[in-house]
Amino acid sequence: MDVIAQDSRLGSAAQAFLSRGGKMLIDGRLCDAESGKTIPVYNPATGQIVMSVAEADRADVNRAVAAARRTFDDGSWASVTHSKRGQLLWKLAELLEQNADEFAELESLDNGKPVTVARAADVALAIDMFRYMAGWATKIRGSTLPLSLPGDYLSYTLREPVGVVGQIIPWNFPLLMAAWKVAPAIATGCTVVLKAAEQTPLTALRLAELVMEAEFPPGVLNIMAGYGPTAGAALSEHPDVDKIAFTGSTDVGKQIARAATGNLKKVSLELGGKSPTIVFPDADMAKAVPGAASAIFFNQGQVCCAGSRLFVHRNIFDQVLEGVSDIANTIKVGAGLDPSTQMGPLVSERQHQRVTGYIEAGRKEGASILAGGGVPSNSNGGYFVQPTVMADTNRDMKVVREEIFGPVLVAQRFDDDDLDRIAKEANDTIFGLASSVWTNNGSVAHKMARRIRAGTVWLNCHNVFDANLPFGGYKQSGWGREMGEEVLHNYTECKAVTQAL
Ligand code: NAP
Ligand code: MG
Repeated sequence: MDVIAQDSRLGSAAQAFLSRGGKMLIDGRLCDAESGKTIPVYNPATGQIVMSVAEADRADVNRAVAAARRTFDDGSWASVTHSKRGQLLWKLAELLEQNADEFAELESLDNGKPVTVARAADVALAIDMFRYMAGWATKIRGSTLPLSLPGDYLSYTLREPVGVVGQIIPWNFPLLMAAWKVAPAIATGCTVVLKAAEQTPLTALRLAELVMEAEFPPGVLNIMAGYGPTAGAALSEHPDVDKIAFTGSTDVGKQIARAATGNLKKVSLELGGKSPTIVFPDADMAKAVPGAASAIFFNQGQVCCAGSRLFVHRNIFDQVLEGVSDIANTIKVGAGLDPSTQMGPLVSERQHQRVTGYIEAGRKEGASILAGGGVPSNSNGGYFVQPTVMADTNRDMKVVREEIFGPVLVAQRFDDDDLDRIAKEANDTIFGLASSVWTNNGSVAHKMARRIRAGTVWLNCHNVFDANLPFGGYKQSGWGREMGEEVLHNYTECKAVTQAL
């Protein structure tokens, strides 16, 4: 496949991948699409095409599902010991670590994020996830249960792999989302078909090469890039897929849940958010102000748990908003591959239109813009947006209610000290993914933690992730949890065995 425009800041390994890569992994073989079609891959910092990759559609999904089904049903994967499954995951982590700089460069080129962030967050956390789940592979267990019936019984539960798993991931943390999905599925003994997002296929397809190098048995882990309405829909409807795991928008999550009804496959969903950052008057300003800024601006705001609604007590509202706006005005926006860049472009032209459209909508609805509010003058064809802070917003505005998924903060003031009323405002959203509370009063912090209806509450921090911490949503932010011991439930069935003694 032709490399159309390269960036001299890419190392030789990343350059080599661009010249050779872009194939999907099906049944232990790297291959092109059956149709021969390809997807163009854009560099969001320039709007130029960097390469094209194989475009999976229904025919390729069918081949991959058939391989995953056969490998699950013929017992060949089941006969691989738990310890060996753990070793395969560990080996994948080692290979990722050896190639970490290349992965960070590819992620930055493809998604737009700063290469320094890709290296320190995306790649580092992906490595950690594979290592963490390697440990779980040997620790998946049921329990023995006492019965109260008359008679003498032995009862126990088995945790068995759910079967063939289809996984569909978004473009905001391409490699990390692949790791969050693949690692627990392999640890539990499932077989997998993973579909990467059409906007950001590079690191998933590079990971496919490492899966070959680590010598995973053919058919266990199949990886492809394809469009949602074709490859994604084929996977979520497929009668031979036992479970679908999805991360992305709430709208598509609902479509996936509907598509799954054909064979009632199991579904887990990690969807959108509109998470509150709540600052109390006693908070440590030196931490809360940069904390509130990075809660929204990290990863260009393209984070499902971004702190996109800022609530600040009236006594400190002006001080906090001034501080956050100052930070927004000084963030260095530029190409992700420039090591001095603090914020890159948005992922795509479409996302750029979406986010600038929301900023316009906020203006029209009467919000005042305290920082940003536009497109940097030296964008040069890239999908850049200024870090933006809006005040004078209220609960009825589109920018307050809907997920923007960009570096746009909406701020509101709270006037009273009643925790129930503050929590009620913070909970006034269809979403329930995350939140952060900033206060020096430990009692207030933990009382708020109980009142917030969301899967994650951060106290005096935001965007803290760890392979051991379960992550997922209340309400329309999703079904099930990723990571931690909790994710093992997504990929296992529980069987009760009872023997009359
Ligand atoms: P999206 O459409 O939900 O995409 C997520 C994944 O689902 C992609 O792999 C996508 O394929 C696939 N998909 C799309 N339609 C599908 C269908 N009918 N059946 C099966 N799979 C399907 O998200 P988006 O359009 O890229 O972004 C739109 C908005 O979603 C964002 O602005 C943001 O609000 C939200 N979002 C949330 C998250 C999150 O982490 N919670 C992540 C990304 C986006 P394609 O590659 O073809 O799109
Ligand atoms: Mg791209």
